[in-house]
Amino acid sequence: MDIAVIGAGYVGLVQAAGLTSLGHRIKVGEADANKLEMLSAGKVPFYEAGLEQLLADGMAAGLLSFHNDNLEAIAGAKVIFIALPTPQDEDGSADTSYIEGALKGFGASLEDRALVVLKSTVPVGSVARFQKQLDDMGANVVVISNPEFLREGSAVGDFKHPDRIVVGTRDQDAAETMIDLYKGLQAPVIVTDPASSEMIKYASNAYLATRITYANAIANLCEAVGADVKDVLKGMGYDRRIGHHFLNPGPGYGGSCFPKDTEALVAIADSAGYDFSLLKGVIEVNHQQHERMLEKVVAMLGEDLDGKRVGLWGLAFKAGTDDLRESPAMYLALRLQERGAIVTAFDPQASSPDVKQVDEPLEAARDAQLLLIATEWPEFQAVDMRAVHDVMGAANIVDARNMLDRRDMVRLGFNYVGVGR
Ligand code: NAD
Repeated sequence: MDIAVIGAGYVGLVQAAGLTSLGHRIKVGEADANKLEMLSAGKVPFYEAGLEQLLADGMAAGLLSFHNDNLEAIAGAKVIFIALPTPQDEDGSADTSYIEGALKGFGASLEDRALVVLKSTVPVGSVARFQKQLDDMGANVVVISNPEFLREGSAVGDFKHPDRIVVGTRDQDAAETMIDLYKGLQAPVIVTDPASSEMIKYASNAYLATRITYANAIANLCEAVGADVKDVLKGMGYDRRIGHHFLNPGPGYGGSCFPKDTEALVAIADSAGYDFSLLKGVIEVNHQQHERMLEKVVAMLGEDLDGKRVGLWGLAFKAGTDDLRESPAMYLALRLQERGAIVTAFDPQASSPDVKQVDEPLEAARDAQLLLIATEWPEFQAVDMRAVHDVMGAANIVDARNMLDRRDMVRLGFNYVGVGR
């Protein structure tokens, strides 16, 4: 099938490369000239395990091409996936202006009966709104919802083995085309109306954010009553109604999706006249969780952080990605620097011009009065902590991801604090 993907970010690129593995021919439209240059040379502009190979395979098979002009990308395409950003607007709602702008640019040139498929996370009612925009432009197309559920860090696996495929349309032919398009994937397909499909995406992300926040709140309570959250969550997780997934306490959720999607769902609820106080609480508790990590640092180093050296392990919002968007690690680095601390960071993949970085975890810890572990990269567990102890100026650790064994750290002479233990 001839397909266009508009936007070569995390979602668009994985979708495009993934669809070539199902035998489809994909033309990608991307506005950023630098990204385009890298992509045309077979390089992925961000870190995502396995994506470069998938991209290379698609290009070698002659199934993938990149275009600066969206009109070139959509020419002849029967299905056009929209994978454009929907950032948070000032009032918390999702800003859909990237999509509006792009559709304005190529709407009138779409093939007759083409499907315009919204992969971007968009507010409930967007399918209807974009359908009207395209109808008004004289396009004879069907807009449908097909939300994306990939996780950065395992996005290629998530494309190949999705938990489910959700298609939101009332048009039977469009639904059948989508089922046909994903034929090579083994996953339940849920065909529903557009509003329900749009809602599934937000409801899923808000639930996951709530689960993380619940684990964080229980961790905070464990600290107050002298319980160990690791055992508490393990004990809870064996209940089949609960399960073990997504119950890891930490510095609060971050990333490009959960913070903006929870805010957007609150905005959707507000405008529909429903006070989503549960989710408002989640958002509030998540902010507090970032601050609690800072308080743990202050509890060890004192209120005056001016000139204090902090080694920071991790910058990315989670392990497996170089994405810094809404990263709790970045939040902590910047807040510490604001208060005069000298932060030296190490991250295996991510980098930021705003924080001094070194190439080895040991170098980040050198002369530091405190080591803050903010991203759960598994390689941190393999670092020789005796050597870390030797190079640090003072043996303090705030382990915001519970990566290290508290008893081992105490035995090595560290003053160690985790989350909920
Ligand atoms: P991204 O910022 O990584 O990618 C968007 C791309 O679109 C960028 O490369 C940008 O240069 C390009 N672009 C912007 N305007 C353009 C235009 N007019 N024409 C062509 N290209 C243009 O964003 P992302 O993380 O891939 O997210 C895209 C959407 O998918 C968002 O709605 C997001 O909420 C949703 N989503 C993201 C994830 C995730 O984990 N990143 C998961 C599920 C859903």
